[in-house]
Amino acid sequence: MGDDGVGAREQRARPLWAAAEALRYRVAAAPKLFAFFDYDGTLCDLAASPGRVRTQASARSALRRLIESAGTRVAIVSGRPLVALRRRLPLAGLGYIGLHGLEVHVHGLHQAALIDRPATAARVARLQSLAARFFSHRGLQCIIFENKRLALALHTPSLPAPVLRFVGGTFAELARQHGLEVITGKNVVEARPPGLEGGIAVRRVLAGYRQALPVYVGDDATDEDAFRALGADGITVRVAPAGTATRARYLVHSVADVIRFIHFLADARKERTP
Ligand SMILES: [Mg+2]
Repeated sequence: MGDDGVGAREQRARPLWAAAEALRYRVAAAPKLFAFFDYDGTLCDLAASPGRVRTQASARSALRRLIESAGTRVAIVSGRPLVALRRRLPLAGLGYIGLHGLEVHVHGLHQAALIDRPATAARVARLQSLAARFFSHRGLQCIIFENKRLALALHTPSLPAPVLRFVGGTFAELARQHGLEVITGKNVVEARPPGLEGGIAVRRVLAGYRQALPVYVGDDATDEDAFRALGADGITVRVAPAGTATRARYLVHSVADVIRFIHFLADARKERTP
């Protein structure tokens, strides 16, 4: 991931619940709040394949509570396409940022990033056809391609580490030759137009809701760039085991923790002094 990953400047993230009292005060005191949640691995447990992931009813009802809180906005940020996110989590008042920031539909801000969509889609299709031939030639038919039109995800479940390194390295090189850059997440490598990470989309969305305290919760390396973009301005939370290197300020360990945190935010917003 190069500079987008976790570098030498990461800090030691604190367990979120150890800081609960101070956070409750900060959330209650903020005139506005904008909470961003990643989807896979954050609001729902990961499954053997992305298609098998299911949104829990408890996540849905917690989000509904937070959306209805005064002075509060909520958006989902994901590598999934925007249409897929809306289908999985169709909640009134919820904002959506799809394809790690390439698609935005949040409270009056409806746009695809400033890219040439047909040209990008054509590059993605060319890369897919070349990479599929290349890997199939080498007996790696188990790799699953997901064409997201503006990005190409390559799902690599259960490949041994040396094969994974070969696949990731080769795919990154092929992507570069097509003017695309690669980001790496859990069991997935994705080629996409350069310079349009999720953190940039989050910053752009926040600009339309001035003085909001940003909250961002995510579980993957692909969320690190949003943690970096928010820095000390926001409450950043990584869902990961203790000791994980991250730019987030706080750590929780499970989807259940995230759902509890959403209720915690909604409770704190109720205590807000108007
Ligand atoms: Mg995730």
